[in-house]
Amino acid sequence: MKSELFYKSPKTILNKGTGFLSGYTHSLNPYTGCSFGCSYCYVRRMPVSLFREGEWGNWVDVKNGAANLLKKELLRAKAKGKVTIFMSSSTDPYQPIEHKESVTRSLLEVMAEDPPDFLFVQTRSPLVSRDIDLLQHFKDKVRVSVTVETDREDIRKHFTPNAPPIPARLKTLQLLAEFGIPAQVAIAPVLPSSERFAEILRPLVNRVCIDDYFMGDGSGGKRTHKMGLHALYKNLEMEEWYHPSVYRMVYKRMRQYFPEDEIFISQKGFEP
Ligand code: SF4
Repeated sequence: MKSELFYKSPKTILNKGTGFLSGYTHSLNPYTGCSFGCSYCYVRRMPVSLFREGEWGNWVDVKNGAANLLKKELLRAKAKGKVTIFMSSSTDPYQPIEHKESVTRSLLEVMAEDPPDFLFVQTRSPLVSRDIDLLQHFKDKVRVSVTVETDREDIRKHFTPNAPPIPARLKTLQLLAEFGIPAQVAIAPVLPSSERFAEILRPLVNRVCIDDYFMGDGSGGKRTHKMGLHALYKNLEMEEWYHPSVYRMVYKRMRQYFPEDEIFISQKGFEP
């Protein structure tokens, strides 16, 4: 489904890193809203979505003038000390409209010229590979985290029908590796996956982050529960996967292919 687009001119673009992102000085959101509209997205329970008329996933605000704002704010922030940026906390920086609008690319251009101490790019979109030329400027001061919650397309379609297909995300990880861009796979949140998942990931990454609703939704899983996620598992007759212990099983499967120091749990996997 296509999201309705709105064009906004915000007054600021860098936000303070707080809560789950307290390891960062700032978060950076090129868009407000998200076309992917994942069923489990806890942002839909936050004021940004609750005070909006349209359903989460049906609207996206494009931030006009984002690059100019960032240029000024980055300069100011760097004058005060270390700057570590998480992009993005409440949207995916590679919205489908990014193909046309290039807001995220314009922000990367600013940062490539005057790099922060660290930039974390969180996405599930293959479009990030368009910007490999810019990401190369950051050398080891960047990490691209590509969400791959499961290796099963049927499961992906059930939980996130509007998000990019899994094979395209795996291909993205391969490309990032080929071009030497530091990257990780974020199995976040853990969704039902096959026993082959770890074997599929092994040639693509040296860093795996595992997170679930119970650790990562900021409320011990309560927020996710309120969104009725349990019903989606019930429809699939896979309720055993909706449990705080499931991440340990996925961890064990990953450990068969990845050493301990390449696997990070929850918040640790998203830190600078
Ligand atoms: S891509 Fe991220 S921000 Fe967008 S709906 Fe999914 S979880 Fe939420």
